[in-house]
Amino acid sequence: MIDGLLCSPSRVFEETIPIEHLELHDDSTFLEEPDAPEKTSPSSSLRLKDLIPVLYQEGRYQGEPVTLGVGGFGRVELVTTLHHGKYFAMKRVSKKHIVAKQQEEHVLFEKRILKAIQSDFIVRLHFAFKDTRYIYMIMEFCAGGEIWTKLKEVGRFNEPIAVFCTACVVEAYAYLHKKGIMYRDLKPENLMLDAKGYVKLVDFGFAKELVHGDKTYSFCGTPEYMAPEIIQNQGHDFAADFWSLGILVYELLVGSPPFSSSEPAKIYPKILDGLLKFPPYMGEGAKSLISKLCRPRPGQRLGNTKNGIKDVRHHRWFSSMNWHKLRVGQVEAPTIRLIHKGPCYINFDRFPFDQAKADEEFSGWDKNF
Ligand code: ATP
Ligand code: MG
Repeated sequence: MIDGLLCSPSRVFEETIPIEHLELHDDSTFLEEPDAPEKTSPSSSLRLKDLIPVLYQEGRYQGEPVTLGVGGFGRVELVTTLHHGKYFAMKRVSKKHIVAKQQEEHVLFEKRILKAIQSDFIVRLHFAFKDTRYIYMIMEFCAGGEIWTKLKEVGRFNEPIAVFCTACVVEAYAYLHKKGIMYRDLKPENLMLDAKGYVKLVDFGFAKELVHGDKTYSFCGTPEYMAPEIIQNQGHDFAADFWSLGILVYELLVGSPPFSSSEPAKIYPKILDGLLKFPPYMGEGAKSLISKLCRPRPGQRLGNTKNGIKDVRHHRWFSSMNWHKLRVGQVEAPTIRLIHKGPCYINFDRFPFDQAKADEEFSGWDKNF
């Protein structure tokens, strides 16, 4: 659906980015994209100055660069290239901000992990750049927008859509856990749809490498999605991801997570009580899956017993899913009806352009970025 959209590149990047400071890491995976045109030149030939901001074509921000997301971290902007006409999401983060928030290790880890990952269920990182003010991550553009936005638009998902979304996450988990990576930040905000309606994990700020059999003790995640063992600081492992998967299934089908409160401190006792209340419209299969994923004892959780993630795939809630076809992209995504047609940014909120430049930062922590 990207073809023939209204977006056209116009302003070049040299205006905003001092390219003489930029470094291109030419071990990127640009050429490995299945849909890359054959005549694509070697990956190292893509320079940052070849990236052009895509501009809003209409509305109150007409003529300004398209921003896909903002946060304390910086922003994610939509860019394209003249040569390939492909779109990318460019995450730009202030180095000064990273240092101030002591996020150096997280950022370096996120970049290292994303570069190493090759899964259709996880957003690709094509290039990483840095200059004196920012680090840049040039990612695959997920044109369909956030699952979170779609969920708010329709209230709750029907079962086929929830099954499909969850199955994509199961495939992402299978890939990550096999590589010894816990994700630890599952929630609808971190799930994006590509143009085909397939779901991809984004945001690896909390991911962690862990040897199978070991535990880690950091307190992290989003309160509603945290497993009891994280809250109790008992040490956690891959099982915590399966707890969050149960919470996700619930939230997709209901529109809000099972343990919630406007005050975060009131969420934790609910999680520790572990009392799941299902609405009357929820099917038996879904209830069974959620109950098995959200078992208080990590050792009894579906996905974390002797057959591993296979038990999740074989659960009856997924009986309509052809897992092989899903992996090769041949399942028709029911999510496609959630994706709006129009300009390439139509599935995203709109944000005003930010003229402000971050301060320069020279401490050198980003040597290996
Ligand atoms: P942090 O790394 O500090 O957790 P964050 O959670 O704010 O930052 P991301 O989740 O990576 O940052 O991105 C913020 C938003 O930008 C997303 O919620 C999404 O709307 C948009 N976005 C991020 N990556 C992409 C992408 N590859 N394609 C399209 N939009 C994206
Ligand atoms: Mg995020």
